[in-house]
Amino acid sequence: MQKYQMYINGAFTDPVSGQWFETDNPYTAKPWALIPRGGAEDVERAVTAASRAFSEGEWSKLKPSQRGHLMRRLGDLIARDAVRLAAVEVRDNGKLMVEMLGQLRYIPQWYYYYGGLADKIEGSVIPIDKPDVFNYTRYEPLGVVAAITAWNSPLFLATFKIAPALAAGNTVVLKPSEYASASALELAPLFAEAGFPPGVFNVVTGFGPEVGEPLVSHPGVAKIAFTGSEAGGQHVYEVAARGLKRVTLELGGKSPNIIFDDAKLDDAVKGAVSGIFAATGQTCIAGSRLLVQRKLHDELVERLVGLARTARMGDPADPATQVGPVTTRPQFEKVLNYIEVAKREGGKCVLGGGPAKRPECGSGWFVEPTIFTAVSNEMRIAQEEVFGPVLAVIPFEDEEGAARIANQTKYGLAAGVWTQSIRRAIRMAELLQAGTVWINTYRAFSYMSPFGGYKRSGLGRENGIEAMGEYMQVKSVWINLSTEVPNPFVMR
Ligand code: NAD
Repeated sequence: MQKYQMYINGAFTDPVSGQWFETDNPYTAKPWALIPRGGAEDVERAVTAASRAFSEGEWSKLKPSQRGHLMRRLGDLIARDAVRLAAVEVRDNGKLMVEMLGQLRYIPQWYYYYGGLADKIEGSVIPIDKPDVFNYTRYEPLGVVAAITAWNSPLFLATFKIAPALAAGNTVVLKPSEYASASALELAPLFAEAGFPPGVFNVVTGFGPEVGEPLVSHPGVAKIAFTGSEAGGQHVYEVAARGLKRVTLELGGKSPNIIFDDAKLDDAVKGAVSGIFAATGQTCIAGSRLLVQRKLHDELVERLVGLARTARMGDPADPATQVGPVTTRPQFEKVLNYIEVAKREGGKCVLGGGPAKRPECGSGWFVEPTIFTAVSNEMRIAQEEVFGPVLAVIPFEDEEGAARIANQTKYGLAAGVWTQSIRRAIRMAELLQAGTVWINTYRAFSYMSPFGGYKRSGLGRENGIEAMGEYMQVKSVWINLSTEVPNPFVMR
């Protein structure tokens, strides 16, 4: 089995604990590599290296345009190694090779875009309302950023944090999910190859409470950029609050995908299927509630089942495979449990409804694409994030009803609307409480466009120019221009 090391201060290193844990291949349900079991001592080493790089190392002296240059070189190296890195994600994570290749070939754009932004962050001269004073602002980095990520798209989620953090001049300690750490460790040496000084990018691995929490609470960490579950995010937020740290949270969702009776049905059915069954439903933006205008309901469900039934399952490395395994055994069990909950609550299972027993699925953690009708928005299957290939179909009467049901959730990550009416599309985009609204499409995504959650789906934004603001602080500089310091007893 491959045995990984952590990446601290520009070098691979064993964990202080001297312990490793197994990481599984979800397609075979067997371990394939050993991941270092990090702890507080490893966090100490990583944060010390990152702090030093931030405040006194070569990195701290680089001009923003030089940082941008390094980032563009890193983007080129990731593009060069896209196939290799994608293959690691497939093995460790069960993600489809086609999806991972798409992600890996897209990731360099983050480094190009934020590398390009690095030298375009300008302060301003304030036309201040006081005599003899010159006032200007400058944007400065925060310090050491702790990036903590979920398992579902490991390098993608890490990139959303690393790229703006580095562009702003911070240094980074990444703690990937214990279920999908290998790709971060495979990525790490590319930073040195691109010319980043040691300590600018570090990876510590292990379990949340053992290595994640010491990282969040470490006094040398200025900001936490977290992607994960609502419960995990809430806990991290509480721990970070004790140190009054900045936090961005990208959390869960229960996104509505809304089909009106004036939609182009073929497109809407494709959008519904890709909304929930792409990535085996293991995406925060999964369109897991399908809201269908009532008079369309039966026809739409029939077409939906017809298309979803054709999904090819099996080896995620096979380019013909369309639905892969669930990434982790606990998640596999959780998804199956939700299917039972939905049945008990009175949902009508019209497709799937259990583990996939197809021969091509072998002993992997596969769940059949599953669709429930007769779901009301109060049921657990409509309110709780399943994070698997399970769709709840809910009928609605009119626009107002659709918006009401769509917004009746604690989450607010994304929403889809299928209609041919531009007026309706714009009205719905305004009514929906979600950080992203898609009209006649689903899962569109770019480094250029801000992404994040309303309500309990998160805090702050990733991607786009907005993300830069999450990694900087502004300083106001006042210069007295008068030749003498004024009378201290006169208020100016
Ligand atoms: P999780 O909350 O269990 O874990 C996320 C990360 O937090 C992991 O690296 C974990 O080790 C770490 N962690 C756990 N306990 C910690 C602690 N006490 N202190 C510090 N770190 C700790 O989430 P998960 O199961 O890995 O991911 C699935 C969730 O992620 C889903 O809810 C999904 O919606 C969400 N997600 C959100 C987005 C988004 O952008 N909004 C994207 C992908 C996934």
